[in-house]
Order: sequence, then C-alpha cells, then structure tokens
Amino acid sequence: MTGSILLGLLQNTAILLAFSMLYDSLYIKREDHWSVFNKVLIGVVIGAIGVVLMLTPWTLIPGITFDTRSVMISISGLFFGAIPTIIAMAIDIAFRWYIGGDGVWMGMMVILLSGSIGILWRNFRPYWMHANSLKELMVMGILVHVLMLASTLLLPEKIFISTLKAIVIPLVLVYIPATVLLGTLMIRQYNSWQNKRAKEHLLESERRFSEILRSANLLTVLLDNEGKITFCNQHFLNITGYSYSEITDKNYFSIFIEKIDQERTLKAFHEIFNQNANREDYDNNIIKKNGESIFVAWNLILLKNIEGKVHSLAALGIDITDRKKYELNLLQKNKIIREQNNKYRQMNTELMVAKEKAEESERLKSAFLANMSHEIRTPMNGILGFAHLLQSPELTGDEMQDYLKIIQTSGNRMLNIINDLIDISRIESGLITVNPTQVDVNELMNFIYNFFKPEAESKGLTITINDHLPQTEKLILTDKEKVYAVLMNLVKNAIKYSQKGSVDFGCTKKENLLQFYVNDNGIGIPDDKLESIFGRFVQVDPSFSSNYEGAGLGLSIAKAYVAMLGGKIHAKSELGKGSQFFFEIPCIKAESIAKDPVIDNVNSNTDIKMSNLKILITDDDEVSLILMTKLIQKYTKDILTAVNGQEAIDLVKENPDINIILLDIKMPEVNGLEATRQIRLFNKDIVIIAQTAYAMVGDREQTLDAGCDDYISKPLNKEKLDRLITRYGAGR
Ligand code: ADP
Repeated sequence: MTGSILLGLLQNTAILLAFSMLYDSLYIKREDHWSVFNKVLIGVVIGAIGVVLMLTPWTLIPGITFDTRSVMISISGLFFGAIPTIIAMAIDIAFRWYIGGDGVWMGMMVILLSGSIGILWRNFRPYWMHANSLKELMVMGILVHVLMLASTLLLPEKIFISTLKAIVIPLVLVYIPATVLLGTLMIRQYNSWQNKRAKEHLLESERRFSEILRSANLLTVLLDNEGKITFCNQHFLNITGYSYSEITDKNYFSIFIEKIDQERTLKAFHEIFNQNANREDYDNNIIKKNGESIFVAWNLILLKNIEGKVHSLAALGIDITDRKKYELNLLQKNKIIREQNNKYRQMNTELMVAKEKAEESERLKSAFLANMSHEIRTPMNGILGFAHLLQSPELTGDEMQDYLKIIQTSGNRMLNIINDLIDISRIESGLITVNPTQVDVNELMNFIYNFFKPEAESKGLTITINDHLPQTEKLILTDKEKVYAVLMNLVKNAIKYSQKGSVDFGCTKKENLLQFYVNDNGIGIPDDKLESIFGRFVQVDPSFSSNYEGAGLGLSIAKAYVAMLGGKIHAKSELGKGSQFFFEIPCIKAESIAKDPVIDNVNSNTDIKMSNLKILITDDDEVSLILMTKLIQKYTKDILTAVNGQEAIDLVKENPDINIILLDIKMPEVNGLEATRQIRLFNKDIVIIAQTAYAMVGDREQTLDAGCDDYISKPLNKEKLDRLITRYGAGR
C-alpha cells in the first residue's frame, strides 16, 4: 500500500507539473488567452488532466482512492478563472460519477468545493498574487482541504472514521504543501514570463527608437557631458558632409560651431546639462564640412540613466536655412513696405496738411475779403461821405465840427485795420524780432488806463487797475511794444464788447511769471469759441449783422506776440456775464528803466510858441508836404521843403541854420536813412526827426541807428508832433 501511495504521489506530482506547464504554454504565452474558445479549450484540458489524476490514484482503503485533483482544481480556479475551471469541474465531476464506488459523493463534492474556492479567491482577493502570495496560497490550501476533510461526512458510515484517520496526515503533509508549491511555481512562471516580456518590449522599443533616429529625416546627434559626439544619424552626416568616423568621439562644438560663438554655445550646453531640464527649442547656425553654414532648429532631450543621472544630450534638429532665408527676405520686404507705407503716410499727412492749409487759406481769403471789404468800406464811406458834405456852403460851424469828428474817427478806424494787417503779415513772414528793454510795468498799465479812460467813461463803463506790481518789482526786462500791444488789445476788446458794468485789469507776479489779466462784464464768449477766437479773422459773430466793428485779428496778433515773449494767453468766459483774458510772460527783473518817447505820457505844453525855428520838411508826397506844413506853421514862418534825400542834403549844406528836419524815410534816389547818414557827416547838431508810413516794430531802432534823433509814424498824430517839436525846438 505504501508503495502504491508513493507511486500515486509521484504520478500526481508529474501530472501537476504538466498542469503548471499548461499554464505556461496555453495560458500565459497565448496573447489571445482571453478568448472564449481558449478558455473552453483550457477548461477541457484541465478537465482531462483531472481525469488522468483520477485514473492514477492511490488507494487508502479498498474502495476509497485519493488523488491531487483538489490541489489542481483549486489552483485552476485561482489562476485560470471561472470559465475554464467550471468546465474542468463539470468534466471531472461527470467522470467521478462514472467511476462510482463508496467515495463517489465525497469525490464529486471535493471537486466542486476546490474549484469554487479557487474561483472565489481569485475574485474576492484580486491582489493575492502581489502581496503575501505564499500566505494567500497557504490559507486557501488549508481552507480547501479542511472542506475536503468535512466532505468525508458524505462517505458511508462504515468507512467514514477509518478514511478520516487515513487522510488527515497526507492532507496536512502533502495536499496543503502541494497547493502552496504548485501555486508558487505558477507565480514564478508568470513573473518570469512578465520579465521576459518586459525585456522584449524594452529591446523592441530601443530597436524602434534607434531605427527611427537612424533613418528619420531629422538631424540627430548625441553628445556626452563634455560635448563629445557619441552618435549621429545618416541624415546628419548627409547634411553636414562628414563621415561617421570623422566626427564620432570628437568635440561637437569645435567642429560645428563658429569660433566666435563657441564659448557662448558651450556655456548654454553646460547650463542645460546642469539644470537637468530639457530645453525644447534652440536655434543656431552650424558649419558644414565645406564651410557653408546652415540654420538648425533643435529640440534638446536629456537622456538619463537608471538612477536618473543625465549622461547624454540628444539633439534632434531640422534644417530651417531656407525658412530662415525666406523669413529674412520677408522681414526685409516687410521693412521696405513699412518704410514705403511710412513715406506714403507722411506724404498723405503732408498732403492733408497742405489741403487743410489750402482750404484754410481759401476760407481765410474769403473771410478776409468779406471782412476787409466791410471794414475798409465802412470808414471810407464815413470819410468820403462827410468830406463831400463838408463842401456844402450852407453848413454851420457846429455841423462842420461834427462832420470833421466823424471823418477823424473813420480815419482812425481805417488806421487800426491797416496796422493790424501789417502786423499780421509781418508775423506771418517772420520779420518781427523780440527787443527786450527795461519796462516799468506799472507805468505801462497807467498809460493804458489813461488812454482808454475817456472811451470807457463815454460808454458808461468804469475802468480800474486792480493790481499794480510792488515798487521793487515793477521793472522788468521784456519787449515793451509787444506787452503794450497785447494789453492794449485786450482792454480795447473788453470795452468794445461791454455795454455796462466795469472793465478792470492788472498784473500779479507768480514765481518767475508775470500774469496780466483783463476782466469785463460784457457779452461773453461761448465755450466752443474760447480757443478759436485766437485764430486769424475769427470772430464769434462774423455776420454782417454784428454790431461790433473789427477784423478778427487783434487776438491772433496778441497770441503771436505772447508766444514770442515765451508766454501763453487764454480766456475764460460766461456768455452774457463777461470774460476774463489772461496772459503770462517770463518775469526777468531789470534794474533801471529807459524812457520811451513813444508812450511818453508827459503833459507837453503844445501852446509853447517857437516862431523863430527854421524847419526843413522832406517828403516825396505832395499831400504829406502840405499837411506837414500846415501842422508846423505855428512854430515857424521859415519852412523849407525837399522832395528827396539829395535835395535835403543840399538844402542843409546851403542853410546851416536849419533847426529841425522832418525827414520821410521812403523817398526816391536817396532815401531818408541814407540822407541822415550823409548829413551827419557834416552836421552833428541838427535835429532830425524821421517820419515813416511803415509804422513797424524796429523802424524806430533803424532810424536812431542811422543818426536820427527821434521818430514819428504816419499818419501823423498832431499831439505827438507837437510834443516832439516842443521838446527838440526848445532853446534853439
Ligand atoms: P476783433 O477785431 O473782431 O475784435 P479780435 O481778434 O480782437 O478781433 O477778437 C476776436 C473775437 O473774439 C471778436 O470778434 C469777439 O467775437 C471775441 N472777443 C474778443 N474779446 C472779447 C471780449 N472781451 N468779450 C467778448 N468777446 C470778445
């Protein structure tokens, strides 16, 4: 019996080994081991092995045979899963039924229990193989075989005890260890297959990877940590023109990078290596064997060993030379187009400006013509109309005086317009220069106040100076005539555009600036016109129905003058309530002040009679000669006249007792300036007073430079002429 047990055991062991090989070849290696057909096939083969096991039992007690089917079926459930195991169980149960005998029920039950436990274990402990597999196999083996012992209850009573006794020891010593051993063997098979497969995969992917690198149309080069080339592909060789042996193990940078770039590129390379981070894009030039250079866009990948240490740098690149050239070309073309565009834009702007200028000048021309026509015709109408009326013999003395006043006012109005026009055209042509002199600001304001007081009062307006400068601050260095012209203009407007209330003005000092202001309670200016009124010929109400005379030039002249003085002018206003005009100019302190005879406010005594004066009047215009003669005849009975410079020179030579020459500047042949220079060569004492119809800034300086004593502008202002004759004639 012992021999039969041993033999049975050996046979069973061999069969179980065969079973384990079945796992290796039929299950693990078959890629399609999950197919139903395969599962059925495996089930049938396991069932067949079970049959073989049952055919090679060992007999414990006559009629009671044992084999290791419980081991195999439970392991089958665990490793192969439900379908193959259920099929195998069905076959084996059927066969056990067919064999029959006393142990038939127990035999069938053992098959059923072993398979079920294997299947359930696989399902409910899915990680059994990965954690503590030995323990798992042991516990399952114990469970299966404890239940096998319990199955002895299904034996006939007469053999139950004896069988139980007979199988306890083999169960513990053989069946449970056999379960553990068989399971362990199959796990090993599974693991070694997994490892083999992983290795195969690794080799395959490495083969594929190097195949790709070798054959791909990518420039591929591997560098070690010193920059030595350890690998490059055929494409790299084709493009660069080197052979493999010429460059492997050589330093990449000294072969492919231009000398001046080597240091920088090598530094970048070491940085990538040390930072241990892939740098995805890197573009640079590399030199081919024939010396040409190509532009490459690289993708850099750091290769690490199993410990994660970087050992190589793989550089995969594309030759983008053509693209770069194309881009450069495009950039250049773009630049040219941009430049051309800029040129066109500039031309456009210039054209626009020219167009606007043309339109503006057209507009101005029309405005100018309409305005001028109106502004000149109105006073001319007065002058000519009343001059005609004056011829009427029936006029009373009072009427004559009234008409003469009207003619005078109209003449003054004409003169204002002409002066404005001359100023604006001189500003336009850049002829006006700034002539700083010492100016007494307070005196200048007083003069303007006195000048406008009668006009303001005649309109029922009060006029005041609010702010004078302190005595110590009143002297400044600036262009007196310009400040005077600007302030005059603003006060004149304030009176002109006010019907009631007051006009006040003044000057305050703010740090290095002088701020002049003029306030009125007049008609005001709409907000949208506050800027534009400083433009030429701009009037808030340019219509003919406007009640206010003017050509719209005063403020534009004022603005130009203030700008020349380095300042700014602006206005605030409320329609119907009044306006405030401000202008600021730099305040440069001056120490003393020179008197300016032009605005000299000395109360001259025009009644002084100097009938012994001998005066020479020089003018090529007959009307001017007559007027001048009339104006000065009260000072002398001895008046000489000349119609050009040469005549004047000759007359002075012949009459050294002439006291005063009233000399026109613009004359034919020898002009007034030249005549003065020549007279001064032989007569330094004679008083020469220049007279000119230009009335321009700078005339005075020019005449004084030539040797004149003073200057008076045409049309002649009687009071001023009186003052000059009185001043220069006294004591002669
Ligand atoms: P104008 O000879 O017409 O007075 P200006 O250049 O001096 O020319 O002024 C331009 C316009 O600005 C005037 O026509 C007038 O409409 C407006 N303006 C100037 N000053 C005042 C003021 N103080 N009050 C109201 N309107 C003014």
